[in-house]
Amino acid sequence: AQLTNDDVRHLAKELGVKFIRLQFTDIFGVLKNVSITVEQLDKALNGEMMFDGSSIEGFVRIEESDMYLRPDPATFVVFPWRPRDGAVARLICDIYNADGTPFIGDPRYVLKRVIAEAREMGFTMNVGPEAEFFLFHVDSDGRPTTITHDRAGYFDLTPVDLGEDARRDMVLTLEQMGFEIEASHHEVAPGQHEIDFKYADALDTADKVVTFKFVVRTIAQRHGLHASFMPKPIFGIAGSGMHLNQSLMKNGENAFYDPQAPLQLSDTALYYIGGLMKHARAIAAITNPTVNSYKRLVSGYEAPVYIAWSSRNRSPLIRIPAKRGQSTRIELRSPDPSCNPYLALAVCLAAGLDGIKNRILPPPPCDCNIYEMSAREREERGIGCLPESLKEALDELERDEVIKEALGPHVYSRFMEAKRIEWDRYRVQVHPWEIEEYLTKY
Ligand code: ADP
Ligand code: MG
Ligand code: MG
Ligand code: MG
Ligand code: MG
Repeated sequence: AQLTNDDVRHLAKELGVKFIRLQFTDIFGVLKNVSITVEQLDKALNGEMMFDGSSIEGFVRIEESDMYLRPDPATFVVFPWRPRDGAVARLICDIYNADGTPFIGDPRYVLKRVIAEAREMGFTMNVGPEAEFFLFHVDSDGRPTTITHDRAGYFDLTPVDLGEDARRDMVLTLEQMGFEIEASHHEVAPGQHEIDFKYADALDTADKVVTFKFVVRTIAQRHGLHASFMPKPIFGIAGSGMHLNQSLMKNGENAFYDPQAPLQLSDTALYYIGGLMKHARAIAAITNPTVNSYKRLVSGYEAPVYIAWSSRNRSPLIRIPAKRGQSTRIELRSPDPSCNPYLALAVCLAAGLDGIKNRILPPPPCDCNIYEMSAREREERGIGCLPESLKEALDELERDEVIKEALGPHVYSRFMEAKRIEWDRYRVQVHPWEIEEYLTKY
């Protein structure tokens, strides 16, 4: 059962909560906090807490800067790592304008709008994310490095593996906060980890991803490590992805499952795949929103490069895991954890719904190794590529009306403006690779 405002008041008292953090994200998915004391809880629950929207990236300009936070009581949770005495809790908030209307630049609202569109078609989206991250050492001044403990040889020196220890603590903490952890394991690269939690509806999952990243960073810090969700921190080894397992429910049933159909995938599932593939290049701007994201989307590290789907192998953009029945789902493998989860889920769902509305059939599944195909073979089969750079992705987004519409004009224009600047700042830099390549050659 979902918590109400009254439940929150009672719980706060019962659990000895002294401080409450009101949380929301900017358009880049960066978590923001407004801290209040429990004495202000009533005011907060009534949606009377004001903040200056012009101080948040991508929100509003000074003239229109008074914004209000409306806490979602369902998101109330106490931070288990803070003292019991004078406990700290948090509430995730929706953002409202001074006139009482929802703020269209709020990423959580963007997702809610697409969810409402799905609901009108009878669908609820379920999502299970698989976020990967690195645990790095900090230097003697406390600054994060890109040295993993595996590499630094700590494994040989100490009886306990620092990283494994930290990860166990993360899992326990997340469980105390209501996460149902399904798996947690070391990933392929040294110092790289993955923790999977059980799927939930899209809004709940987006809230959980934000919380997840924050908890992982916090617990890492308490173990003297730095957790990074940067997509490709080290050249030459695997980067960190955040696969998004997605399904739609209709009347309590998994709408992607059809026991009679080939592959036991319903038409709805096929159209959803078709929609995701059609919009894949524009979606990348949101699911892979950094310059660094595109250093992960290269061949050789299990990250997708080509726009194809398969029920068998793990390399394409979309994989259909073997499970059927209520577990029937499609796994989108391109997203990385630097994305804003609200926007990422919003654009995936919008693309899938577009596929359903317009009956966009995907090409036949590709169960062979695309990486071994020649460019010509790929072209014959109509297998396109994901964007190779943030610039290419932004250009695609600019051309995709469905994805732009899902973001809404406010988020779209602010996002675009900021990301074009980000790309330009990168473009004019002289990188170490260029020095190595050209300094002595010319
Ligand atoms: P992989 O085999 O790619 O490593 P994992 O087992 O790590 O996959 O993660 C699978 C994810 O898919 C979990 O978060 C799980 O809860 C989620 N999942 C399972 N069933 C569904 C479903 N019907 N809809 C959406 N997600 C689902
Ligand atoms: Mg996994
Ligand atoms: Mg697994
Ligand atoms: Mg993984
Ligand atoms: Mg996966």
